[in-house]
Amino acid sequence: MQEAHSENFPTYIQNNEMKEISLSHTIQSVQTLIEKARQSEQKDDFGRSLEWINEAFQSLTRYRNIPKIAPLEADLYQILSQIYLKRQDFPKLEESINPLLDLSRQLEDGEREAWALLNLGIVHSINSDYKSAITLFLESLEKSESLGYRANVANCLINIGNVYANLYNYEDALDRYRIALNDYADVLSENIRVATNLNIGNLKHTAEQYELAVEYFEKALFSAEKAGKIDMMAHAHTLLSRTLLVIGDIQKGIFHAQKASEFMLDRVSSATGRQINLLNLAQIAFIQADTEGATQIAIQGIAAARRVHDDASELRGFRLLAKIFESVKDFRRAYRAQLIYSRRQADFLKMQRSLHALDLEIRYSLSEKQRKIEALTKENSYQALLLEQSGQIAQQNEQLRQFAFITSHDLKEPLRMIGTFTQIIHNQYEGKLGEESGTYFKFINEGVNRMNALLDALLQYATIDKNIIGPEPVDVGDVIRIARANLNLKIEETDANILCLDMPTINSVQSLLTQLFQNLIGNAIKFRQPLGRPIILISTEEQAEHWLFSVEDNGIGIDSKDAERIFTIFQRLHKRTEYEGTGIGLAICHKIVSQLGGRIWVESELGKGSTFRFTLPK
Ligand code: ADP
Repeated sequence: MQEAHSENFPTYIQNNEMKEISLSHTIQSVQTLIEKARQSEQKDDFGRSLEWINEAFQSLTRYRNIPKIAPLEADLYQILSQIYLKRQDFPKLEESINPLLDLSRQLEDGEREAWALLNLGIVHSINSDYKSAITLFLESLEKSESLGYRANVANCLINIGNVYANLYNYEDALDRYRIALNDYADVLSENIRVATNLNIGNLKHTAEQYELAVEYFEKALFSAEKAGKIDMMAHAHTLLSRTLLVIGDIQKGIFHAQKASEFMLDRVSSATGRQINLLNLAQIAFIQADTEGATQIAIQGIAAARRVHDDASELRGFRLLAKIFESVKDFRRAYRAQLIYSRRQADFLKMQRSLHALDLEIRYSLSEKQRKIEALTKENSYQALLLEQSGQIAQQNEQLRQFAFITSHDLKEPLRMIGTFTQIIHNQYEGKLGEESGTYFKFINEGVNRMNALLDALLQYATIDKNIIGPEPVDVGDVIRIARANLNLKIEETDANILCLDMPTINSVQSLLTQLFQNLIGNAIKFRQPLGRPIILISTEEQAEHWLFSVEDNGIGIDSKDAERIFTIFQRLHKRTEYEGTGIGLAICHKIVSQLGGRIWVESELGKGSTFRFTLPK
């Protein structure tokens, strides 16, 4: 026994030594392979890189579970993940991210773990599992923050923004994008900067802030051109063209559509945004009265939209088709296109609504801690404070706001349908339906127009607190000048005399103040005495903690019993035939003043003019 043992002993040592030697040899050669794989990956030579990686994994198979190997494996999985990320092969990305996550935890490599969490989040987000995605992004964000890993913080913010954008929560999306672009500009790659500017432009376009959309698209185009990124240039041209066509800048719209087409030519079917470009071209053809061409391109555009599951573009395509057919009085096909459009629109809205709900659920299931992490990344401590304190109220407000937004948005669509079909019937049966039909059509039209105005106002009421900029120093005198300019026509018509005393500069939100003064001055003109010229005095008074503003008129006045209810939505004191209106103007004023932290009321007597007063904190 003893002898046998001692005989075996040297062999054992020898084996072990050999193993050690060959292990260190393997480690060295794998390190070289990793370096090569990394370089190929950075040059986007993925095929070559994958070969090196495979070879490396093969040399490591014998040493599985040896601790020294773990860092090498982690490197390999990270390069693999990087490749799949660039290739947008998300199933494979997930396959390589999971071991990477395990390894980085085992190695207590915080940065790598944060990176892996971010990418796992991206996989979930692509699979529309937004809740898990956000949780992963936040976890990664917290880790990156504590390690000072700024590049990852920035990418987390952008990806959180992307999720919110997918959930149609534009405000939160913009918020994240803005922080990333402003505070982390130094660590953002050119690609991500361009993509983010395109995303912001898209959000602005959806919010119908077209001028801003153009600004962001132009910014993206500029950076893409500088970096020589053809794909992104094409995309930027496409989106620019779409927005310009909406705002009626046809010449420029055509220019950018042509540019986009040039860039997309060599990658016909795979180019991002190809469906949008086709619909732009169809729209242009339609504008140029080439209905035949417009129809064909629109159909191609719809097919392309369907292939990439771009529901919004598909809708746009059917809407355009309906218009084209209507223009050539092909009512049967116009009807069909419109019908498909309406059905799809209903599905689209349903989907949007369920995403709204999910968005709410996500935001309010985020634990307090997670919300704080997010707040921490915001340089602006004021915002952080607000974020912490506003929990419950914000939730309720948000639900209300979304309710109003959704209802008014959803209601506009069936209404549009009524309008379109009435128009179609009217055109088709003009003169065949008896004498009164003309009057009936007029009533329907008036009803539709009025309902539209109401829904617009409701929508405006619901979205007051969206996309506000500030608080920032605002010259109230300027605000009143803008409001007056907007009301110019009415002021001239009624020869209104508006006196404005010296106004201060206050810390506030300019767009809201403009709306506020515009509504009050507009009412002062509208509810003037039947005879005589409206005289309006706008004044201000500095108080201990507030500015007190007054808008005084010499109009018909308000009974004191009605002084409160006029600030409620849809409350009016007069018939529509007497005074046009929707009953939302003062409700908007009330909401704006509350939003800015003040109070609004009216002092008046019937027949003796009214003074609307409101306070704003200093
Ligand atoms: P709208 O002007 O669309 O009717 P508002 O919410 O702006 O809706 O106003 C609600 C109601 O308050 C008005 O219908 C009107 O009866 C009354 N009102 C508002 N401003 C004045 C004013 N300056 N003078 C007299 N009545 C007013």
